[in-house]
Amino acid sequence: MMNRLTLYRIVLALSVPAGLVCLVLGALGAEVDQHRHEAEQRDAVAASLAIVRARMEGIVDATVAFSMGLSNVVEAQDGKLDTALFDRLARKTLLANPHIRAISAAPGDVIAHVYPAQGNEGLYGQHVAPDEGPADAFRARQQRAPVMSAPVDLAGSGRGLVLRVPVYAHDGQAYWGLVNVTTQVDSLTEASGAGTATALHVALRTPAGESLAGQDPVFAQDPVLMEVRIPGGRWQLAAVPTAGWERSPLLSSPYVYAGAAAAVLTSGLLVLFAASLRRSHRQTSALSQEVQVRKTAEEGLKLAGAAFSSSSDAIIIMNDRFEVMSVNPAFSEISGFAASQVLGSVPPFLDPRQGSGVDAASILSALRSTGKWRGEILNLRHSGERYPTWVTINAVQSGSGATGHYVAVCSDISVIKQTEQELDRLAHYDILTALPNRLLFRRRLVQDIGAATPETFCALMLLDIDGFKGVNDSYGHQVGDRLLREIAGRLLSAVRGRDTVARLGGDEFAVILTGLARRDTAVEAASRIIRDMQLPFQIDDIVVHVSVSIGIACCPEDGSDEVMLTRNADAAMYAAKEAGRSTYRFYQWEMTRAVRERLLMEQRMRLSLEAGHFEVWFQPRVDLRSRRIIGAEGLVRWRDPEQGLVSPGVFIPLAERSPLIHKLGRTVIEQVIGHARRWYAQGLDFGKLSMNVATPQIERGNLVGELRDILADVEVPRHMLEIEVTESLFMADAERAKRMLGEIRELGLSVAIDDFGTGYSSLAYLKTLPVNHLKIDRAFVRDLPEQASDAAIVRAILAMSQSLGFHVTAEGIETAAQLEFLADAGCVFGQGFLFHKPMPAAEFEALLKLTTPAPAAAPALPMLPPRAGLAGA
Ligand code: C2E
Ligand code: MG
Ligand code: MG
Repeated sequence: MMNRLTLYRIVLALSVPAGLVCLVLGALGAEVDQHRHEAEQRDAVAASLAIVRARMEGIVDATVAFSMGLSNVVEAQDGKLDTALFDRLARKTLLANPHIRAISAAPGDVIAHVYPAQGNEGLYGQHVAPDEGPADAFRARQQRAPVMSAPVDLAGSGRGLVLRVPVYAHDGQAYWGLVNVTTQVDSLTEASGAGTATALHVALRTPAGESLAGQDPVFAQDPVLMEVRIPGGRWQLAAVPTAGWERSPLLSSPYVYAGAAAAVLTSGLLVLFAASLRRSHRQTSALSQEVQVRKTAEEGLKLAGAAFSSSSDAIIIMNDRFEVMSVNPAFSEISGFAASQVLGSVPPFLDPRQGSGVDAASILSALRSTGKWRGEILNLRHSGERYPTWVTINAVQSGSGATGHYVAVCSDISVIKQTEQELDRLAHYDILTALPNRLLFRRRLVQDIGAATPETFCALMLLDIDGFKGVNDSYGHQVGDRLLREIAGRLLSAVRGRDTVARLGGDEFAVILTGLARRDTAVEAASRIIRDMQLPFQIDDIVVHVSVSIGIACCPEDGSDEVMLTRNADAAMYAAKEAGRSTYRFYQWEMTRAVRERLLMEQRMRLSLEAGHFEVWFQPRVDLRSRRIIGAEGLVRWRDPEQGLVSPGVFIPLAERSPLIHKLGRTVIEQVIGHARRWYAQGLDFGKLSMNVATPQIERGNLVGELRDILADVEVPRHMLEIEVTESLFMADAERAKRMLGEIRELGLSVAIDDFGTGYSSLAYLKTLPVNHLKIDRAFVRDLPEQASDAAIVRAILAMSQSLGFHVTAEGIETAAQLEFLADAGCVFGQGFLFHKPMPAAEFEALLKLTTPAPAAAPALPMLPPRAGLAGA
């Protein structure tokens, strides 16, 4: 009895602490269980996020590929922005990439064109320059590679990212500006698989740690983090389940109940049932563990399964031996293989015995060492067809940290490839003639130079078509285009199939002859080309004649790299032109001397510009009847310390071929306007001061901006200033030229066509231009009045100008006979040594001081008798 009671008491006394111990053990078990549950949830989120990341990188890569294609097209056109072509490609890009909102082109870092224009009007004129604009534009330019911007606000449609692609024109030498691709962030994450389908909230953070509006909460919820490769840096991708992290309350854990049960049981029959209690405890925990594992796995599967089955990309899940464990429906749709046909096997691109265009062993070794691999492969469809696929493989680690699985996301990129091919064709071939363009020409030249030996060398021919511009101007661009195509055809048939015929731009062509054993072969080809070009071209009912000048340089003899060979062939072409056209010249060393002299002179000009050795002289323009000064032309002079006063006829053509012309041009404009300002303030009547502007200043410079700048606080009435341009301005891009001249007219300045008659423009064409003054070239005045054809031309120009309302000035009047003829024919204004030679500004100022107060005190030359019917202007 006693023993039982004691036993009972002992059992009773032990039952309370033992019960407590069991309860504590139960709580601890619940805690461990909670952690495992969380780790499993995180694993499942990580698996889904790996898929999202792979898709996002794939989408961004495709965006980069498209934008590079667009920038190549701009580059291939030597920086000329063909907006119609740009729109066509941009439309295609937007169709293939719904997350892209807009694509803009910013030559000189100012947005000049946007697709689609509608809804993006606000972007026009926006400055993205490195010094004024965002830092990413600066980085893109510095690194010569695309860079993704920090998040920006998109008017009315959330947050965006802008991919900035720097463009380099003129053979990659000169920075042109940027192509900007604006992406809507939400659409990007959605397209990557985030959202309701995957039950994930996904957020992005820049390398600088800046997150996108509305996405901050994700970062605050202890997300799963992953790095994602975005152009310009590594960004961070974060995800949490849409329903938040599931944290089961303590009471829901089976461990707690198990502990409680154990405590109750202990308090009853501690000793007797200790063994069975332990057994029962184990059974309970084993059971609940299994229930929990199954539950978590189900949740994980639910989560990953949604990403898995909703993805439009094929997804393959493999075990650590790269055997397929599962594939999604998209896999079967794309490849044609049923899941059952591939389960348990190694995918073909990871099987060294099968080909995919990439070495399977190298993929496997990358996966084993870094846990990831990405790249393009040629995948195999069930039908046997191959298709380009972008594959991203990532190892997925289990809770213990060991690699458990591999997830491969395979995007079918056939459409992207096709578009890429089209972009590639546009970037490397001339649209008009279908010949390789400058970009591809350079690539081929480098290749052929690499393959050349003294025994089998290559020769570069540069061709310049003489007379093309005349045809273009007389018959219009359509005939010009047809002619270029015919020329391309004749060139192709004059050389062998393995040679390259390329169009470098305008009427410039190039031929690369490869595998030559003798120079004679090049001579024969050149002679054939010259002969073929001399035959008339029949375009509809028009017959046109052109000829060709060819410069030839051989590799390795005349140059062992592409730059030197091209330069020498160019020097030879120059010599061929000087030799009277329709001929060829091989490069010779002396030609380099001429080139070197030109370079030296350029160097001296540069120094002189810095030292201020350029000054503007003035040659008065007069009213032919009264001889009164009605204006003056500013003519630049170079006071070279070595050579003395140099004529612009010598250095302007040289300056026009180099960037120097811009600085020189600005100096001239500043000086002319500076003088005008002073004289105006002094009350001197100088009429109208004109300044000569070289074509490249308008084509490639920022003339309008400069004028606006210089004139900013100048009080001289704008109509007292004039710009002289030559007809060559309308040869290359007439529309642009027209626009620029229009802007100059809007500033209030007048515009004159200089050296009129030497170009090809017809008066009727000039009427469509914002021009109001013609200066008849000295060549037509020189032999007046004897030369009958010149006399006829001058009379015709004067008669038509009068009816079209142009002012006309005859240049180079040296004799009284010329003056008489001109005045007789109705010419009102003139300029020439007969009246005044060009003179330094101070001298002209002195002359103005004489003429302004008392016009009667002016020239000592005899006055012409007043003539009835003389046209006024
Ligand atoms: P241009 O604009 O046609 O200028 C007229 C040229 O004819 C001037 O030569 C002038 O001195 C010359 N001239 C004027 N009257 C007579 C004459 O009666 N007889 C003869 N034999 N010549 C006469 P210049 O100053 O040597 O300038 C030559 C060319 O250089 C100019 O032709 C113009 O095309 C260019 N040029 C001059 N200054 C500038 C400038 O500042 N910028 C640019 N881009 N070109 C300039
Ligand atoms: Mg002039
Ligand atoms: Mg002139």
